[in-house]
Amino acid sequence: MSLIEIRGITRSYQVGGSELKVLKGIDLSIEEGEFVAIMGPSGSGKSTLMQILGLLDRPTSGKYHLLGLDVSRLTDDQGAILRSRTIGFIFQMFNLLSRTSALDNVALPMIYSGAPNRAGRALDVLTQVGLADRLHHKPNELSGGQQQRVAVARSLVNHPKIIFADEPTGNLASDQAEEILGQLQLLNRGGITVIMVTHEPDIAAHARRIIRLKDGIIVADELTTASLGSPSLEGSRSPLPEGTGVRLDLSHPELSLAEFKEFSASALRALGANKVRSALSMLGILIGVGAVIAMLAVGKGAQKAIESRIASLGSNLVMLIPGSTTVGGVHGGSGTRSRFTLEDVKAISKIPHVSRVEGNVSGSGQMVYKDQNWSTQITGATPLYAAMHNAQPYYGRFFTDEENLHLDRVILLGQSVINNLYPKKENPVGTVVKLNHINFLVIGILPIKGSTGFRDQDDMVIIPLRTAMKRVVGKVYVDNISVEADGPESINRVIADVQRLMRRRHHLPDYKDDDFTLRNMADIQATLAGTTQTFTLLLGIVATISLLVGGIGIMNIMLVSVSERTREIGLRKAVGAARRAILSQFLIESAVLSTMGGVIGIIMGMTVSFTLSKFAGWAAIVTPQAVIMAFVFSASVGVIFGFWPARKASLLSPIEALRYE
Ligand code: ADP
Ligand code: MG
Repeated sequence: MSLIEIRGITRSYQVGGSELKVLKGIDLSIEEGEFVAIMGPSGSGKSTLMQILGLLDRPTSGKYHLLGLDVSRLTDDQGAILRSRTIGFIFQMFNLLSRTSALDNVALPMIYSGAPNRAGRALDVLTQVGLADRLHHKPNELSGGQQQRVAVARSLVNHPKIIFADEPTGNLASDQAEEILGQLQLLNRGGITVIMVTHEPDIAAHARRIIRLKDGIIVADELTTASLGSPSLEGSRSPLPEGTGVRLDLSHPELSLAEFKEFSASALRALGANKVRSALSMLGILIGVGAVIAMLAVGKGAQKAIESRIASLGSNLVMLIPGSTTVGGVHGGSGTRSRFTLEDVKAISKIPHVSRVEGNVSGSGQMVYKDQNWSTQITGATPLYAAMHNAQPYYGRFFTDEENLHLDRVILLGQSVINNLYPKKENPVGTVVKLNHINFLVIGILPIKGSTGFRDQDDMVIIPLRTAMKRVVGKVYVDNISVEADGPESINRVIADVQRLMRRRHHLPDYKDDDFTLRNMADIQATLAGTTQTFTLLLGIVATISLLVGGIGIMNIMLVSVSERTREIGLRKAVGAARRAILSQFLIESAVLSTMGGVIGIIMGMTVSFTLSKFAGWAAIVTPQAVIMAFVFSASVGVIFGFWPARKASLLSPIEALRYE
């Protein structure tokens, strides 16, 4: 069987509802090593025939055997692989990838065929066409003739058996045309079958056989004088290594590292060529990811702050405060405020599972040190306070039971008080301050607790309880009682016991509500955890919406990109790209786009949250999980929303893509 055998090939197009018959039954055999020119007037079907022979197009009817293979049985992807291993194309319009060096243009088909040593082979063929000194020039830095020589080199790079050239000299000046024709003749003498479409007789004269087409049928098929002028042809032809049979392994190779690299590089080139457009289309993802990162960081920071605030209040703690819990604004009881006494404290301390009890009074006080003065909150407490409320002084000491009993005038200062009373940064411990005109000896500095948002917890001083009651605020009652259970599991029992005890001590009949409230710190924690969950849910909704919007932006721009680069897709398919390769290329491109948006968004979000935390005074915590999540989400948005445009690109027919205007 011949290299190329076609029988009864027809090709018709549907144009405006009617059928246009372009090829009307073509029979043709071409042997290995021939140099054939297909001639004919414009519109006679030369390109159509060549595209069918080159597996870029399928005939409407008829049989085509290439290398003995019935190509009508091949899938599109198998056709692509067969094309990349046996066929090279040269087009009138050169069809080089712009913004890509001559070397990379030539190496492109090897990426799809998976051949090794791309750079070396590309250099060889570029040297062969005389362009060894133009390797890194881009197409717009080359003359038309040089561009076509790059295209010739590209057609050769995969050691083709056949080269198809469609009007290869149509866009060239005559000396450059001669040069290209010389190259083709040289290749033919090296054993490659050359099939060239032209409408110029003097160009066709370089071939050894001329087939003339007219209105879709062959009207003449003759040998030229060129064939007579080279009698030693048969002898000089190098035998093809595989003989006439082609290796029938037409399975798709996996996405190789080389392909991945080329696709990423081409994605970056395409994005770089449209910087403003790319930046704008990233904006949706960028803002979405940035907002989510910032909100997560601030939320996490707030949660951490609240948790440590609660921990600093003490664990296993139950607070007994006067007044009933108001429900709908209605106070239970007679309206008189209940009060707690030191006897209540003593009674509660006898309840089982209560480890420590402590009554506190509070009031406000005016402090003076030298010429500074400051008004602050006073807490009167017993030495138990330090352990129960995590208030061990970080410098100095707490007062003792003795000092409390003797109504000693000793005081511990919170950090905010120190900041205001001691602007010269002297050590407060050992100094004497005035609190409501009474001299107090400073014995310790309270640990820093931070702000709850409503109240600065460091703007306080602590003095012994009895000193406070008798000398400073003048109260005979305590304002609240802190009860500590001996473990988390006994908290509920302690609450019930304290409630029963207090009702009895306050002589409350059954029909009356409590005139006090027991507040469990664990409950507060649970409430906050619930708030955090709501916050997380809201955040999730915001993230989903913003990623959706960002994804649509990316899909839109990818559709634009696909239609802009239709010719490039056609070229890539012509040189052997399978569907999967085109799909991967555009998926990588949209993933790069969205991931870049995501990464910039992460950086922006971190910047925003750190700035916020600086000015707002709370910590922003950017967790690695948040960053990884944002990264993964933005990358997958690219893949998901890029899929449709990429699939659209991969399904383009090579020949329609190449003809796309
Ligand atoms: P040429 O011999 O100049 O290379 P072509 O093979 O390109 O001619 O085209 C042959 C005829 O087929 C022309 O009349 C052209 O209008 C028609 N044709 C080519 N491609 C299409 C198409 N995709 N749809 C409809 N008509 C087409
Ligand atoms: Mg044509």
